[in-house]
Order: sequence, then C-alpha cells, then structure tokens
Amino acid sequence: MKGILFVLSGPSGTGKGTVCKEVLKRNKNIFLSVSATSRPIRDGETEGETYYYVSKEKFIDMIDNGEMLEYAVFNGNYYGTPKHAVYKLIESGRDVLLEIEPQGAAQVRKLFPEAELIFLLPPSMIELKQRLVSRGRESMDEIKNRLKAARWELLQADKYNTQIINDDLDDCVRSVIDYINTKHNQRQKIDDLLNEEI
Ligand code: 5GP
Repeated sequence: MKGILFVLSGPSGTGKGTVCKEVLKRNKNIFLSVSATSRPIRDGETEGETYYYVSKEKFIDMIDNGEMLEYAVFNGNYYGTPKHAVYKLIESGRDVLLEIEPQGAAQVRKLFPEAELIFLLPPSMIELKQRLVSRGRESMDEIKNRLKAARWELLQADKYNTQIINDDLDDCVRSVIDYINTKHNQRQKIDDLLNEEI
C-alpha cells in the first residue's frame, strides 16, 4: 500500500508546531516532511531537521524548477515542501505529515486530492490572541494581521477532511493520532480487500 499524506494546518497560534512534535514523538510510524524556508535560522533549530534554510534566490529557483509540492510567502519569507522526499516516502508505503499554513494546505488539496487534511481550531479567538501575545514573537500590529488572516482561514476549515480543537494539548494530540491511525487502517483494509484472491 502507498503511504498517506497527512496535512496539519490552521491559523497561526493554534499550536500546529507543538501538536506536530507530540504526534511524532508518540507515533513512530509517520514521517515529518522537512520544509525549506528563506527565513533565518533561530536559536535551538537545526539545519536539515527543523528546516532546510535557503536564500530567497535559491527558493525561487526551486519553485521554477518544479521542486515544490506547495509553497507560501508568510511574514515576508518563503516556506515550502520539497516534492522529492515526500513522493519517495509515499511510494515506499510510509505515511508523511506536513505541518504547514493554510495557503499551502489549499495547494496540497488541489494537487493531492487523496491527502488527509486536518484543521486545528483554537478554543476561542480570545485564546488565539492570548497565545500569539504570550509567545512574544510578533508585534501588536502583526498579531492584528494574523487574527484577521485567521478569520479567512477559519472559513476554509470545512474544506478539510477533519477539524480538531486544540484546547487541551494532550486531548488534541490523542485526537490527531486517532484520526491518523483510523485513516491508515481504513486504507489498509481497502487495499487488503482489493488484493484478496477469490
Ligand atoms: P515559523 O517561521 O514559525 O517556523 O513558521 C511560520 C509558519 O510557516 C507556520 O504557520 C508554519 O506552519 C508554516 N510553514 C512551515 N513550513 C511550511 C511549508 O513547507 N509550507 C507552508 N505553506 N507553510 C509552512
């Protein structure tokens, strides 16, 4: 059976990164796709693990050469999923997880209709704002922009295969893992039925 492409997306501040890390810790059968970005490396990040850090010029070359499965400009920087590694893993039967923002998720939906898209919802808009403020990475103006973007993104949520609320982290991670396992088992069952000798 081919692997399944899972996409974890949702508005900035819903906790995609944290949820993704926990899912990978608890489910060793899914592989994270390492994205490329033109943003500078931050403390505690590792080249080739957190991201592949490339210049804007190199990123544009990668787009022009058709190397990206999807990409988006976020906060003035390019972010994208290199195609090659994802296709290789899927072809070899591994499930792959992408942790990307919603513009990129919309591209994956078009290009890869069999992908399973998971939308993370914040418990409330107040909580979303509080999470953005307390992580202290963005200015108040930027936070306002992200909250505005979140409204557009929420309107896309029902185009995803499922929506999961990130209120309690542990509950949320468990729901994401349950969803991944259920989809994996369903596809495995269909594959077994199709390959059964009668
Ligand atoms: P950060 O700079 O905080 O690591 O990431 C900023 C945003 O970019 C996050 O919402 C993250 O999910 C998103 N992101 C990370 N990698 C990719 C990618 O490959 N494609 C897209 N479209 N978004 C990404």
